[in-house]
Amino acid sequence: MSTAALLQFDREHLWHPYTSTTEPLPVYPVASASGVRIRLADGRELIDGMSSWWCAIHGYAHPVLNRAVREQSERMAHVMFGGFTHEPAVALARLLVQLTPDPLDKVFLCDSGSVSVEVALKMALQFQQASGRPGKHRVVTVRGGYHGDTFHAMSVCDPVTGMHSLFERSLPQQMFVPRPRCRFDGDWDEQELEELERLLAAHHQELAALIIEPIVQGAGGMWFYHPGYLQGLRRLCDHYQVLLIFDEIATGFGRTGKLFAAEHAEVAPDIMCVGKAITGGYMTLAATLATTEVATTISNAPPGVFMHGPTFMGNPLACHVACASIQLLQSSPWQERVAAIARQLSVELEPARILPAVADVRVLGAIGVIETRTPVDMAVLQRFFVDQGVWIRPFGRLLYLMPPFIIEPDELSRLTAALVRAAASMH
Ligand code: PLP
Repeated sequence: MSTAALLQFDREHLWHPYTSTTEPLPVYPVASASGVRIRLADGRELIDGMSSWWCAIHGYAHPVLNRAVREQSERMAHVMFGGFTHEPAVALARLLVQLTPDPLDKVFLCDSGSVSVEVALKMALQFQQASGRPGKHRVVTVRGGYHGDTFHAMSVCDPVTGMHSLFERSLPQQMFVPRPRCRFDGDWDEQELEELERLLAAHHQELAALIIEPIVQGAGGMWFYHPGYLQGLRRLCDHYQVLLIFDEIATGFGRTGKLFAAEHAEVAPDIMCVGKAITGGYMTLAATLATTEVATTISNAPPGVFMHGPTFMGNPLACHVACASIQLLQSSPWQERVAAIARQLSVELEPARILPAVADVRVLGAIGVIETRTPVDMAVLQRFFVDQGVWIRPFGRLLYLMPPFIIEPDELSRLTAALVRAAASMH
C-alpha cells in the first residue's frame, strides 16, 4: 500500500486517541522502530522522547524482548485463565510480589491500566461490603489526577480536564480535595493535609478508598509533589478505615529513579496498580496487587469470589514478555541511567526557566517538564518537533520528555534542545 493510500484510509476509517473523525490531526506513518529511533515511512528518523506514552523503557525492538515474544508464541500465545494456570503468569506474579512493597502479595493480572484501576476500585468496594461497611461506596482523590478512560477510572480523574460534565449522568460521583502543592524537592507543610482531614472526618462513613498517583501526577499535569503527603495519607486512611490505592501505572518500573514511586515515601498502599512499562512497551498488560487482608476479606464474604475476570486475563505472551522486561531492567544499571538522565535534563532544560512563555521547569528521574503559561498548539509543535528529528508530543501547558532509559547523552541533548527551542518559539 502506498503511503498516500494508507493515510487516506486512516483518515477515513480510524479513530486515534482523543481525535475527531471530521477534523483529524495529522498522523505520521511509522515503518519501524529500534533502540530510541522511530523510522517514518518517508525515511526520516526521529529520536524518541516519549517512550510511546512512557512504556518503552528499553527502547524498541530489543533483542531480549523480541526473543521472549518468539519463544512464548511458539509455546502458546494465549490460553484462558479460568481453570488453567501457566508458568508465565506464575513467574510474573512472583516477580511482582517480590518487587512491590511488602504487604502486597495477591496479584490480579489484567489487560490495561484503566482496567487495573477499575479492578482496584471494585476490590475496595467489595472489601468494604465484606467488612460490614456497605455505606462506604465512594472514592476520594486529589484534583489534577489521571487514572484512565473507563467510567470508574474517569470518575477519579480531574473533574475539569477529565470532562466530568460531559458524562455527568453516567459517572459515579466521587469526592475531591486540592492536589498537594508542596514540591517534591521543597519543604513539607503538614497543612497540605487539612482539607482532606476535614473531608474524611465528615464523610469517612461513605468512603471506601482514596486513590492517588504517588509522587508524580502524570497526564493530569506532570506535577511532582512531596513524599510527606503520602505518609500523611497512610496515617489518615488507617484512622478512617479507608483503603489507600496507589496508581503506579505511569511511575512504576524505574521512571522516577525508584522502582516504584511509593519508595520515595516508604509507604505501602493496600492496593496498587501497575501497567505501561510492565512489558517494556511490547504488549498491553497491567496488574492490580492487594494485601492478603484485602483479598481474604473479599473471599470470605458473599459471594465468596472477587467479581472480575477478563477474557485475556493472564495472557501468557504478555506475561512472558513482562518477565523478560523486568529481568532486563533488573540486570541493567537502570538506577545509574535514570540518575544520569535526570542530571542531564536538569542542566539542559534549565535555560528555559527565564523564557517569557515558561512558568516552571522541573525534573524527577527520567521525566523532564517545561510548563508553559498558555496552552501549546499541539499540531504546530508536533510538526516543529518532527522537522527537528525528534518525537515529542506535548499537551495542555506541558512540554515534557520521558525518554527510554537506554538513551545516549547526545540523543538526549537533541531532545532537550528541541524542547527549549519550542518553548522559546512561544510568546
Ligand atoms: N493511570 C495512570 C497514572 C496513567 O498514566 C494511565 C495512562 O496514561 C492510566 C492509568 C490508564 O492506562 P491505560 O491507558 O493503559 O488504560
